[in-house]
Amino acid sequence: MSPINSIKGWDRRKKVRYAWIIAGMLLFLPPVAFLPQLVGEANLCGKLCPRMFYIIGADPTWTKIGENVLRMWAGAALVGAILFVTFFFGRLWCGHLCPIGGTQEVVSKLLPEKATIDYRKIPAPPFRYAYFSVYILGATVGIGSIACKFCNFRVIPFLFGSPFVPTYQAYFMTGVGLAGLAVVVLTGFLAWGGRGYCNYLCPIGALDAVVNRVGANLPFVKRMRVTHSICTGCGTCQRVCPMAAAQVTNGKADLDPISCLQCRTCEINCPTAAIAWRKK
Ligand code: SF4
Ligand code: SF4
Repeated sequence: MSPINSIKGWDRRKKVRYAWIIAGMLLFLPPVAFLPQLVGEANLCGKLCPRMFYIIGADPTWTKIGENVLRMWAGAALVGAILFVTFFFGRLWCGHLCPIGGTQEVVSKLLPEKATIDYRKIPAPPFRYAYFSVYILGATVGIGSIACKFCNFRVIPFLFGSPFVPTYQAYFMTGVGLAGLAVVVLTGFLAWGGRGYCNYLCPIGALDAVVNRVGANLPFVKRMRVTHSICTGCGTCQRVCPMAAAQVTNGKADLDPISCLQCRTCEINCPTAAIAWRKK
């Protein structure tokens, strides 16, 4: 398998995407954490948590759900903005700006390919939505919330903040902190392409993928698409896609919008330029 890092070097599109990823880190992660500081938080927890406000608790009522949204209003606004942008322009958040997916991808690409784990044989959509259901409904069926215990949106900001904040260092001395770190390492840093967590476990990614899929059929929205008339079926896109979204069937490739996160790796590497971010 071609190493994902070596493909076509530093194409301009790849440079632009990594510039966005670094901007996402500066915007959301310590020590800069510009957006958290703007709403009076130190990291992506508290009112900026983008993952808790839609969890149905053990005693779900509209009042409680409303209280959740009010308590995490900045996270709710962030997720609303992400889904709005996705509907019209595709998954710019997941593929370009998310500091969690971006960090995991960058670290994974610094590691030797032999050290990485290729999860792509696991069918992503069934696994993702089975896990998403447990994530949303776990508390109602008595298995507790897994939202904070294995939250990469907590672990990665804590990792970036550890040199400056003693309580973050202490977090990694606890069982929950170590378990969270293990999830980041196994599903992110060590995942081939760095996007195992994004593809299988991230609840925001799960919502974003549905919105991406729904919008993909509309004629006025742009998505990553293949022009079949110039696709030779060479399989490069399938080989380089970190999300297993590109599949060649009967000599022609297709990109599944329920998994594609618009990283453009396939577009950059397609030898016939059959792939582009374009309208239907
Ligand atoms: S890399 Fe391009 S030509 Fe090759 S299968 Fe994919 S879309 Fe077709
Ligand atoms: S299909 Fe292409 S743009 Fe979409 S995730 Fe795979 S490599 Fe990235």
